[in-house]
Amino acid sequence: MWKCPKCGREFSRQEQDHSCVRPKNIDEYIAAQEEAVQPRLKEMRSLIRSAIPEAEERISWSMPTYWKGKNLLHFAAFKKHLGFYPGDEAVARFKDELNNYDVSKGTIRLPYSADLPAELIQRMAQWCYETYQK
Ligand SMILES: [Zn+2]
Repeated sequence: MWKCPKCGREFSRQEQDHSCVRPKNIDEYIAAQEEAVQPRLKEMRSLIRSAIPEAEERISWSMPTYWKGKNLLHFAAFKKHLGFYPGDEAVARFKDELNNYDVSKGTIRLPYSADLPAELIQRMAQWCYETYQK
């Protein structure tokens, strides 16, 4: 176990990349991130919100989360990328369109060095909304 000296949280991985603050909502989450990445996080939020306006925003697993009866998807800020967590099923369903991205189980890494794939993110959010509620 590794214990973060700043926030005291424990992680199985040494130097685990995480945010030391525990935000109560997405506004607080975004405000706690590096200033340079905040516009990107706001863009991500507005893309998802406009794709699935009926979903509720909350913080779950310390990440911005979209919820409708259950967690549908999350995103999170890292040093060099934005993590998008639409779940294993969505990643499998859209894998042919994710060839340009670093993808692992349930996670898509969207580098800050490139524009967000806005249309794809919105389609995936809608797919999660329609599929995971059932
Ligand atoms: Zn910490």
